Amino acid sequence: MRLKPSAFSYRRPTSVNEVFSLLREYAGDAKIIAGGQSLVPAMNLRLATPKMLVDLGGIPALSELRVSESGYLYAGAMVTHGRFLSDPLVLRDWPMIGKVLPHVAHEAIRTRGTLGGSLCHGDPAAEWPALCMLLDARMTLCGLEGKREVAAHEFSLGVYETAVREGELLEKVCFPPFDTEWRWGCCEVSRRQGDFALAGAMVGLRLRGGVLIDARLVVFGVEDKPRRMDAELSHLLGQPPSISGFSRAGLFAAMNVSPRADLHASADFRQDLVIVCVERALWDAAGTEFSGVAR
Ligand code: FAD
Repeated sequence: MRLKPSAFSYRRPTSVNEVFSLLREYAGDAKIIAGGQSLVPAMNLRLATPKMLVDLGGIPALSELRVSESGYLYAGAMVTHGRFLSDPLVLRDWPMIGKVLPHVAHEAIRTRGTLGGSLCHGDPAAEWPALCMLLDARMTLCGLEGKREVAAHEFSLGVYETAVREGELLEKVCFPPFDTEWRWGCCEVSRRQGDFALAGAMVGLRLRGGVLIDARLVVFGVEDKPRRMDAELSHLLGQPPSISGFSRAGLFAAMNVSPRADLHASADFRQDLVIVCVERALWDAAGTEFSGVAR
């Protein structure tokens, strides 16, 4: 097995317009590189053989992480996983980001790996695409024809397939604010800590007066792309959290997925994992203060 990439040239432009020019000049033979944490292994295995690498690291605007006056979080595509985890404002107001990102690989990879790289790589088991779907994030894509916005649920199209078109780049992601009635939970199963999930679930529950008034679910690592499955939680609304309700949610979700099979897990095993992950993610979100309610 070869573990050396094929020959390539490298450029580090300082503006997005330069990126577009290079992508056009080397049409089909150029590849954007962000943190290189997915692309470089693929190049070493010669699964990707770009002739030109266009590094986004020289464009400071792509590394911006800021909260707008109206409370929206804007994250440039080049913000690393580690940077999210060290930002106190993000951890306070978007606690689900702090809950999920420690599951992404290992610290060394989180130091270089980026939001944009993870989204654009399009791995169905990656956490960011599922998390963006759960949080109703919006992606801004830009190319020579201008900018366009894509909702997170329209971004992932399949295994390593996304809404990013030839010649485009992901510029930033916008996360809406959430009030304190929302609680968040996640559960994933992987063979080792830091490995990609064999299956996982992310949940948002909105509680008022001890009763669930809104509920969101995303299942990932199971099908070709993450899937929002709020309907599978609809029986929970108007009720306090309950063991029986959460168990049924796991079963409903498992009945309605079409799991893929691969080297790592069979479809049947993934379906079983959905039951466990959904139920545990719900309890993670409900928290211990509800553990005695309506059992
Ligand atoms: P790169 O590798 O540089 O790029 C990835 C792809 O996205 C390339 O095709 C590139 O052309 C494209 N791209 C990058 N940025 C843009 C942009 N702004 N616009 C358009 N296209 C762009 N990830 C998880 O989610 N969960 C895990 O458990 C996990 N485990 C891992 C374990 C290991 C051992 C390794 C090596 C990686 C793991 N990863 C995991 C992947 C890791 O999270 C990477 O950080 C992530 O895939 C993105 O990498 P990157 O930012 O370095 O992007």
